[in-house]
Amino acid sequence: MSEALEIPGWTHTYSGKVRDLYAPADGDASRMLVVASDRVSAFDHVLEPGIPGKGALLTRLSLWWFEQLSGADGGEPVPHHLTGEAVPDTVAGRAMIVRALDMLPVECVVRGYLTGSGWAEYREQGTVCGIPLPAGLQDGDRLPEPIYTPAWKAPAGQHDENISFERTVELVGDDLAVQLRESSLAIYRRAATTAEARGLILADTKFEFGVDGDGVLRIADEVLTSDSSRYWDAEAWRTGATPKERMASFDKQIVRDWLAANWDRTGEPPALPDEIVERTLARYRELLDLLGA
Ligand code: ATP
Ligand code: MG
Repeated sequence: MSEALEIPGWTHTYSGKVRDLYAPADGDASRMLVVASDRVSAFDHVLEPGIPGKGALLTRLSLWWFEQLSGADGGEPVPHHLTGEAVPDTVAGRAMIVRALDMLPVECVVRGYLTGSGWAEYREQGTVCGIPLPAGLQDGDRLPEPIYTPAWKAPAGQHDENISFERTVELVGDDLAVQLRESSLAIYRRAATTAEARGLILADTKFEFGVDGDGVLRIADEVLTSDSSRYWDAEAWRTGATPKERMASFDKQIVRDWLAANWDRTGEPPALPDEIVERTLARYRELLDLLGA
């Protein structure tokens, strides 16, 4: 499924579900080229067909957020992984050159609202990733306080697994575990404020961090994209009568919902209909427009 490209000066090294990684052909191990494909994944499966133009849209969104977090939003610069170099023409608009970091095996999830797997757990146990929440919350409700619910980043092919904060301490040590939690919550709050000013709710998101050669923690991977985050229309959320109306999504939820309704999660997932592909793409475009990205 991966599309290893011929890119002058770069050698293909790895393909994740959505992105393809390349290393400098001259052996320099300190940088990487990350190319965003049009592949779309849901429930840990890569789906067919891809969403044409998705790689470019998500790259634009990620770059825009990196810029905001570098201080364009008026906040303190957050160390990140971009080197700022121009990417090769072959992959213009859908790639980034980054510092190759020692990635931490923790997916740093922050939730400001209750939905998805969090809602499923809450309905059964009154908790999200073990964190007790007030009784009586509904699907799509705002949480009293954003919560940090890390997951263990499983090796390729395995499912990521929700873990406790204590487990992240075992995985990365005290200092880094605390830094991950504090940075994740701070970046979420900052981004949610930016989104809110543009009529959007940032319901939840997932960050990945890595450590550079000097021991500096840097935010890596993609940031605050519609693959890694849930975005809702703030007006619809305020006025909607049903959970579906309240959570008018600008993200992959359209794909997840269609798949949940049309696949029993055994065997290979069915092909996405054109209409779903079109609708997803249109909503991704709308999100970029609203943010001004
Ligand atoms: P998997 O790693 O399980 O394949 P995935 O399917 O989510 O996860 P992609 O998102 O498609 O993978 O690929 C991006 C990969 O690049 C991820 O493994 C991510 O952790 C890694 N990555 C992102 N930024 C950096 C960086 N600065 N240094 C090293 N690795 C990075
Ligand atoms: Mg990923």
